[in-house]
Amino acid sequence: MSAGQQAAGAPATMTAGAPVLPSPRSEQAPGLTDGDWQPVLAAIRGASSVDLVCHVLPDGDALGSALAAGIALRSLGIEVRVSFGDDPQVVPGSLEFLPAQDLLVPASAVPERPELLITFDVADPQRLGLLRSRAEAAATAVVIDHHASNGGFGTYQLIDPAAPATAVLVDELLRRLGVPLDRDIATCLYTGVATDTGSFRYAATTPATHELASRLLATGLRHDLISRRLWDTQSFGYLKVLAAALDRAVLERGAADGLGLVWTWVPYADLTAHGVLPEEIEGLIDVVRKASEAEVTLVLKEDPDGSLRGSSRSKGAVDVAAACGALGGGGHVYAAGFTSHSTVDTTVARFRDALPPH
Ligand code: 5GP
Ligand code: MN
Repeated sequence: MSAGQQAAGAPATMTAGAPVLPSPRSEQAPGLTDGDWQPVLAAIRGASSVDLVCHVLPDGDALGSALAAGIALRSLGIEVRVSFGDDPQVVPGSLEFLPAQDLLVPASAVPERPELLITFDVADPQRLGLLRSRAEAAATAVVIDHHASNGGFGTYQLIDPAAPATAVLVDELLRRLGVPLDRDIATCLYTGVATDTGSFRYAATTPATHELASRLLATGLRHDLISRRLWDTQSFGYLKVLAAALDRAVLERGAADGLGLVWTWVPYADLTAHGVLPEEIEGLIDVVRKASEAEVTLVLKEDPDGSLRGSSRSKGAVDVAAACGALGGGGHVYAAGFTSHSTVDTTVARFRDALPPH
């Protein structure tokens, strides 16, 4: 345990006449105080059964966070279920290595009125998919998240937009519950943090993030294998889908007040033609956004029903969460998304119009 962590949990030292200090904040979760954590810890300690759920089409942070919490709570003797609200519920191939998947149950196996339900990385109740009504009916619902756009649903909220990943908040939760990191928990948390920081490259990465990575690596996890699976493994069919998407890319230099927009889209037919699953193209935007001429990147991915899942990224000068919010979605300043039921051209036009200046 680092000095910083001990300081976070210890009572503030006060001398006579000194101003009353605010409740101590954790280095890992600077936006949260002891007062924020206390009722959540009490709810968990008092629960006999807990449902841990993440967002639909889970990424490494969502599923890694839920599974890490699942392993930890199970070690405390609590009955645990982990779930997400997709039907069929498919763990992406890139996350098949995550441990403790025996904890996973379909949405229908989550009680209709859970005793205690905790959501991980869910910015908006809509992102719960089939689990939304169960989350809303829970006797106690806790929201653990790091999306600035999170409007705060549920009974208790542990939302820290300064945290680079939800997994960072889970590390803090486990520390406060007194559960030590083992290699399985660390594998889940490392996957979450590496996913959301782009392997510790993005701006939200802090010294505390690296300190956490150090503690996780110290458990003996195989970060080399995790990284290869997360970043450097794709099917040949994906390369063909990527090639077509890059060929279709459009650069609009004048968009975003002259900062530039690059966009493309992936028809569902491209996926079926090359035997590629929707989850396999989640990282395609990371190639498109390399275009130095564009501040903003938009990728539209067609679903089987014809709707378009929009993914957007900015390099920091434009708040894409606000632009996606105008289309009914949300996310972070740098990375956000939405779902559109319009055509490609109409969707791009609405997104372009939602970029600053308004
Ligand atoms: P991605 O482009 O990787 O799917 O998502 C980028 C970020 O935006 C993620 O943090 C994700 O949670 C968020 N996001 C994606 N789609 C939606 C959406 O439809 N609604 C909201 N509120 N957030 C979204
Ligand atoms: Mn996340």
